[in-house]
Amino acid sequence: MDIQKIREDFPILSRTVYGKPLVYFDNGATTQKPRLVVDSLVDEYYSVNANVHRGVHYLSQQATELHEASRETVRQFINARSTSEVVFTRGTTESINLLVSSFGDEFMQEGDEVILSVMEHHSNIVPWQLLAARKGIAIKVIPMNDKGELLLDEYEKLFSERTKIVSVVQVSNVLGTVNPVKEMIATAHAHGVPFLVDAAQSIPHMKVDVQDLDADFLVFSAHKVYGPTGVGVLYGKEEWLDRMPPYQGGGEMIQHVSFEKTTFNELPFKFEAGTPDYIGTTGLAKALDYVNGIGMEKIAKHEHELTTYALQRLKEIPDMRIFGEAADRGAVISFLVGNIHHFDLGTLLDRLGIAVRTGHHCAQPLMQRLGIEGTVRASFAMYNTKAEIDALVAGIERVSRMF
Ligand code: PLP
Repeated sequence: MDIQKIREDFPILSRTVYGKPLVYFDNGATTQKPRLVVDSLVDEYYSVNANVHRGVHYLSQQATELHEASRETVRQFINARSTSEVVFTRGTTESINLLVSSFGDEFMQEGDEVILSVMEHHSNIVPWQLLAARKGIAIKVIPMNDKGELLLDEYEKLFSERTKIVSVVQVSNVLGTVNPVKEMIATAHAHGVPFLVDAAQSIPHMKVDVQDLDADFLVFSAHKVYGPTGVGVLYGKEEWLDRMPPYQGGGEMIQHVSFEKTTFNELPFKFEAGTPDYIGTTGLAKALDYVNGIGMEKIAKHEHELTTYALQRLKEIPDMRIFGEAADRGAVISFLVGNIHHFDLGTLLDRLGIAVRTGHHCAQPLMQRLGIEGTVRASFAMYNTKAEIDALVAGIERVSRMF
C-alpha cells in the first residue's frame, strides 16, 4: 500500500493549519474525501442531474440507473442478499431512528425490553429513550470491564421473555473496542431476538459481511467511509423489513394514494419517502469502489500497525492514561495526560496543526462509567502515517511541558 500515493488522492491533506502541515486525526468524526468522490458529485450535477424514479425522460432514467447501481454497490460491499435489503437514509442516526420508530411501533409494547451496551453512541441510546417515553419500554444495559470489553456473561443474563431486540455498536467510537458481535448475535438468536449492529465505526476499517454476522439490521454513514455527508444505509433482512410499517410518508414510498386508503411501495422504497440524495449515493458508491480498489485487508493491516505504534509511543509520555485496552481494538485511541483538561490539550494541539477530537464523543453514559468528563481522541484512517503519530506525540510532550 503506497500511502504517499493515497494521500495525493485527498487534496485536503496537503493544506496547512496555522502555518503547520495538517495532521488529521479526527477520522472517527468524519473522514476526508478522495478527489474522485467529490468529482463524481460535481460531474453528476453538471451532466446528469434529474429527479430519480419518476421520469420517463432520458436524464431521469440515467440518474435512476446511477442511484440504483449505487444500491447494488452497497449490497455487494456488505454482502446483503438483495438490494431490497438496502435502504438509503441520511446517515447512521436516521437509520437508527427509522428502525426504532418502525420496529418499535410494530413489535414492542409497554414493558418490552431492548438491550443496549454501556459504550453506545447517543444515536443508539436517545431514540430508544424516546420510544421508552412513548410506549413504556425498558432499556437494559450490557456492562463492561475496566479494559473496555463487554461482559458477555452479564449480556446473556439480561435476556427475558420481554426482550424484543438487541442494539450494539461493533466498534466503540471512544475505546476502539471491537465487540464480538457475531457471537453476540448468535446469543440473541438463541433467545429468538433480532440484533441491530451500529457499524458506523467498523465499516471504514474492516470487512463487514451481514450474512456472515447473521445481522438482522446494520447501519452506517457514508461520510465516515470516505463518502459524502448526508447519506447513510439501513440494512435489514427482508423478512423483518417486510413486516415493518413505513417510517415517513410522502412521495416515492407509495403505490397508490387516495383519501380513503393508501398502499405502500415495495422494499426498499417503502422506507424512502421523498427525493433521496441520489447524487450523494453515487458519491458513496465511488467511495466504496475506492476502498475496494485499495483493499480492505490492506487498509486494516496498515491501520492496525498505526494503532499499535501510536499506543506504544503514547505510553512513553509521563502521566498518560489510555482509555480502552481491549484485546481486539480498532483505530481509535482516547486518552488524558496528567491533569491537563482534554479541551486545553485539544486546543493547543490544534495550534500545532493536529486535529483531534475532545469531549464526551456523544457517549456520556460511557464517560460516567469511566468516571471522567471527556477525553482527547485520535482516530486514524488509511492515509495516516507514523510520522504524523510522531508529530502528535511531540505535540503532546510540548503541551505537557507548558503545564
Ligand atoms: N454511532 C457511532 C458509533 C458513531 O461513532 C457515530 C458518529 O460519530 C454515530 C453513530 C452517528 O453517526 P452520524 O452522525 O453520521 O449519524
